[in-house]
Amino acid sequence: MRFCSLFVVLQFRDDNMQTYPIVEIFHSIQGEGFHSGIPHVFIRFGNCNLRCEWCDTNFLSFEEKSIDSIVEQVLSYGCDRVIFTGGEPALQDLSSIGKRLKSHGLTLSIETNGTIPIDSVIDWICVSPKDQLYPNVPIKQRTGDELKVVYCGQDMSVYDNLKIGFTHHFIQPCYIDDDTVEQNGKGFQLVEKIVKESPGWRLSLQTHKWMGIL
Ligand code: SF4
Repeated sequence: MRFCSLFVVLQFRDDNMQTYPIVEIFHSIQGEGFHSGIPHVFIRFGNCNLRCEWCDTNFLSFEEKSIDSIVEQVLSYGCDRVIFTGGEPALQDLSSIGKRLKSHGLTLSIETNGTIPIDSVIDWICVSPKDQLYPNVPIKQRTGDELKVVYCGQDMSVYDNLKIGFTHHFIQPCYIDDDTVEQNGKGFQLVEKIVKESPGWRLSLQTHKWMGIL
């Protein structure tokens, strides 16, 4: 029994000393997908196992932060919803940080590329597959709440099988910050056509970009 107690204490100390690569933590409004319009605290983790050409995150610029400092900052916003994003958040030990955050009554979501199985501590799983760029990298997280496809002209039938494991299906135009309104507009028109002609797919827009917020 004493050994067990000692183990628990040492484990707790280990967890407290654990650090995570953090690009940024901020309080904002989810701009896309199912929870669009709802305030969340975003924890953007560093590093990713893919290199998508449209990626708008500098995930290699991060700072190592302890669980304590992450939790303290998250709680300071007084918001009960957290999104793990990145980079690819599933590269991290999400169990430890997830349990700590949930012990404060927070609801956890993740935005992932789906190539790494997701820990069960997460309440809401949003997979945004990158098959259009990496057809040979298998999607291992094949179930979840939300499938969010960034449309770049790919054949949508590649998602026929993957769709089955998800409750909500979103398609989102590939928005390139440096492209002109006309160039981005063409992508919007293509997505509009797909949503009209493909039952089950809903439109997702990155409204936070239009609002000029993170
Ligand atoms: S998976 Fe996401 S974070 Fe990683 S490179 Fe692609 S868009 Fe960027």
